[in-house]
Amino acid sequence: MNYQAIWQAALGELELTLSKANFTTWFKNTFISSFENGKVVVSVPNTFTKSWLEKKYHDAIVKALRTATNQGVREVTYRVEAKNTTVLPLEHLLPETPFPLEEAAAPTEQETTSASTNDLGLNPRYLFESFVVGKSNELAHAASQAVAAKPGTVYNPLFIYGGVGMGKTHLLQAIGHHIHKNSPNTKLRYVTCERFTNEFIQHVRSGRGAEFKQLYRTIDVLIMDDVQFLTGKEGTQEEFFHTFNALHQNNKQIILASDRSPKDIQGLESRLLSRFEWGMIADVTKPDFETRVAILQSKTREKNYALNTELLHMVAGAIQSNVRELEGALNKIVAYHQFKNLLPSAATIQPLLQTFAPAFTKRSISPKLLIETVIAYYEISLDDMLGKSRERRYALPRQIAMFLLREETKCSFPSIGDHLGSRDHTTAMHACQKITDMLKDDEQIKRDLSVIREKLYSSAAAH
Ligand code: ADP
Ligand code: MG
Repeated sequence: MNYQAIWQAALGELELTLSKANFTTWFKNTFISSFENGKVVVSVPNTFTKSWLEKKYHDAIVKALRTATNQGVREVTYRVEAKNTTVLPLEHLLPETPFPLEEAAAPTEQETTSASTNDLGLNPRYLFESFVVGKSNELAHAASQAVAAKPGTVYNPLFIYGGVGMGKTHLLQAIGHHIHKNSPNTKLRYVTCERFTNEFIQHVRSGRGAEFKQLYRTIDVLIMDDVQFLTGKEGTQEEFFHTFNALHQNNKQIILASDRSPKDIQGLESRLLSRFEWGMIADVTKPDFETRVAILQSKTREKNYALNTELLHMVAGAIQSNVRELEGALNKIVAYHQFKNLLPSAATIQPLLQTFAPAFTKRSISPKLLIETVIAYYEISLDDMLGKSRERRYALPRQIAMFLLREETKCSFPSIGDHLGSRDHTTAMHACQKITDMLKDDEQIKRDLSVIREKLYSSAAAH
């Protein structure tokens, strides 16, 4: 077998385990450049890809290559080189480590209302510093940072897509802010597709088409949001196509966002589609439970408001659809409690959440569902859960179940005891106290509880 056939076979394996955006982004333009004595060198187009493959996909790559070669691979390394293309000296242009964040200082009042920033049409709150990174958006975030650090040199265009309220606009504007801050003279333009369309039509109508071209083809960075609205607008697509080409040829950065992937934008001319695929395509998806909690934490801090962990978990558990809703729920909670001059508690928050997630109420979490979720998580049997063994691998899940019964169903201590093999209510009280103490500094327990809660909420919501 020649190298390329081996690599194709390995890619075939890898493709099955990755999202399309990830696969295309990280494996496009990779190939095997040497294979001797079980040592494979994989060539990649730039250092950014190299470090991602090393950090995130190394094990999967080794495994795929072993399968493809029948265990003939011992070692895999990565080297930056480009195949049959003009070799751009990308290495020294790229940040070695994903680039250092500015101190996460909150913007001062004055900065947030800085006229120059508002002139660009950017929301002062949409900064990298206020963007919470999780599995659902790490690719889009990393790519945005790379582009913001070196506009026009890394990925061109950068295309971000995903459902509503997932942070696309936030990322786009964070790039804008970053570039503007680092080099205020860079000519940067942030527009929605609709605004671009309207401006274009107005200019053409009033016979100022040339002025429009001049306006858009001489900028350094074009950020266009919601490009799915190009659908059905042939004239605008034509103009945008030429704008794109003019900018791209001059290594000017283009950044785009859409609520669907380029292929899924109906009525998009194929020549535009193929250009959107030239650079990097990254998706943003629904944030997981931990990311939702982190986002809530960051937003409460922004608002100078405090919610304890239990309440944060409650909100994050109830609102799973998107970040905009999550933020909406938080705003509602803050406004309600400030207006009524109340301290937030489970009892006051619960009714507010119902309007956001009608399918979810705490009542739909039954003790049975809860115990089933805990035993499934710890992979023990119901007999072990209800039995007498004091071995840690049974005792801990039992205590966790008691704790969650108290937190999530508001069972009384005697009834918790009943649900767990007719135990005494003092055992239940002791268990709740013990887990509460452990949560103060045991990271493993914290993670266990997050995962169990997430499973619980999603099965309760499904009921
Ligand atoms: P989209 O453009 O994908 O519809 P937005 O960028 O408008 O979504 O995000 C909706 C709201 O959620 C904004 O207020 C934004 O600040 C917030 N948001 C989304 N994702 C995150 C995140 N990862 N971290 C912090 N805030 C986020
Ligand atoms: Mg948006």
